[in-house]
Amino acid sequence: MNGGININKKILAMGAHPDDMELEAGGTLAKFARKGYDITLLILTSKGYTGISGEHYEGSILKNEAEKASKVLGIKHIIFFDYEANFVPHNGEIIGKVDNIVNTLCPDVFISHHPFDSHQDHKAAADIMFAVSRQGRVKNVLSGSTLPYRPNVFAFRPQFYVDITETIDVKFEAIRTYKSQYEKFGNEKLIERVDAMGKTYGWAMGYDYAECFEVIRISDDLWI
Ligand SMILES: [Zn+2]
Repeated sequence: MNGGININKKILAMGAHPDDMELEAGGTLAKFARKGYDITLLILTSKGYTGISGEHYEGSILKNEAEKASKVLGIKHIIFFDYEANFVPHNGEIIGKVDNIVNTLCPDVFISHHPFDSHQDHKAAADIMFAVSRQGRVKNVLSGSTLPYRPNVFAFRPQFYVDITETIDVKFEAIRTYKSQYEKFGNEKLIERVDAMGKTYGWAMGYDYAECFEVIRISDDLWI
């Protein structure tokens, strides 16, 4: 610590899809970016995809939106893997590639999805995070919340709460920056729902807004 600034701490956030980490952890990433954490965002699928209604989202547009949204949140580095959306593998190849990033970066915190998320790509990302974090290679490992529109009766026991009252507006701005996905999910209707989710999680802790995570592993050397 240096006057409250963590100049040496690093976070790796890994989203299966380009807008995932903004929704699950955008306020948290913005908060720790302000504290001086060095944040890397890894996006596993950035080729573009065709939605169930047949609409197509070009990879180049999604990448461009991801870069802009990362700037809004204060994320310094962004890495794209070009796996195909809906077909994220869980095998030695992708684990080896994420292993290489962890070996190079040595993150203090690894945030990704929840293993009981109902999206197969999110599940795969969670399993990849667990595999790569083995044997204490990353000391703080957190799974983001399953989003309310992906209900799963097994899912998500919130344990680690982050007060994002001061960064909720930044989170909204980042979500709006993903113009294609913001429009897909109903424009300001999406913001209203994210707002409600943040308030509901915050209520448990007496914060105006919170994001919360399930703890896979946490050490005592980072947060005090
Ligand atoms: Zn996703």
